[in-house]
Amino acid sequence: MQLTGKTAIVTGGARGIGKSIAMTLAAAGANIVINYTRSSKEAEEVVEEAKKLGVSALAVKADVSKNDEIENLVKEVLNHFDSIDILVNNAGITRDNLLIRMSEEDFQAVIDINLKGAFICTKHVSKVMMKQRKGKIINIASVVGVMGNAGQSNYAASKAGLIGFTKSIAKELAKRNVNVNAVAPGYIETDMTASLPEKVREEFMINIPMARGGEPQDVANVVLFLSSEYSDYITGQVINIDGGMVM
Ligand code: NAP
Repeated sequence: MQLTGKTAIVTGGARGIGKSIAMTLAAAGANIVINYTRSSKEAEEVVEEAKKLGVSALAVKADVSKNDEIENLVKEVLNHFDSIDILVNNAGITRDNLLIRMSEEDFQAVIDINLKGAFICTKHVSKVMMKQRKGKIINIASVVGVMGNAGQSNYAASKAGLIGFTKSIAKELAKRNVNVNAVAPGYIETDMTASLPEKVREEFMINIPMARGGEPQDVANVVLFLSSEYSDYITGQVINIDGGMVM
C-alpha cells in the first residue's frame, strides 16, 4: 500500500499506538505530522526516525481539546505541505473510576480530549479535505465504546460517542470523497494498559479468544489499509482489532 506524496496528521503520534501508526504511514511513503502535548522529546525522535525513511516529518505541539491550538496546527501543516490527505484522531486518555467515585472533572476531561478533540480536529481538517475532494479520516475508538466496561463509564461514553460521530461525519462527507472510519482496538500493550491493575488485565485476557494482547502494530496495519486507496469504497465502518473479544 503506497502513500507516496500524501500527508498524514496523527494526533498523539509521539508514543504508543499513535507512534506505530505514524511510522507505518511513513514507511508507506506518507509525510507525517506528529501532534503531541507533553511528549516533545519523543515527538522529535519520531520525526528523526521518519526522515530516515525518506519522507518529510514535522512535530507540532497542540492540545486537541483546544480549538485555537488545532486551528494553528492546521495552518502550520499547510505552510509545510500542499495537502492534508489523512487524519488519524488517536489522542486519548483514561481517568478510570467507578461511577459513584468519578468526579465531574474526570468525566469532562475524558470527553474533552477523546471526543471533543476528534470533533475539533475533524472540523478543521475536513474543510481542507472537502476542497481537495479527497481524504481519509480514521478515528481510534475502542471495544469499550461498543460493549462498555465497569470503571470506565467516561471513557466508554467518549468512545461510543466517537463511533456515532464517525458514522455521522461519514454520511456528511461521502459525496466529497472523504472516507471516515473508526477502528476499535481491544487490549493493546502500551503505557495506557501498563497502568491497569493486574486483576483488570486478567479479566481482559479471559475474554480474548486469541488469549493474548495486541501490539500497536496490529492497529497501525488496519489504519494503513483505511488510509490507502484499497479502502476507497469503505466508509462509516468500525473495525474491531481485538483478537476476537467482540463478535
Ligand atoms: P498512550 O500510550 O497513553 O498515548 C496517548 C497519546 O495521546 C499520547 O501520545 C499523548 O500525547 C496523546 N494525548 C493525550 N492527551 C492529548 C491532548 N490533549 N492533545 C493531544 N494529544 C494528547 O495511549 P495508547 O494506548 O497509545 O492509546 C492511543 C489511542 O488508542 C487512544 O485514543 C486510546 O483510547 C486508544 N485505545 C487504546 C487501547 C489500548 O489497549 N492501549 C485500546 C483501545 C483504544 P502526549 O504524551 O504528548 O501528551
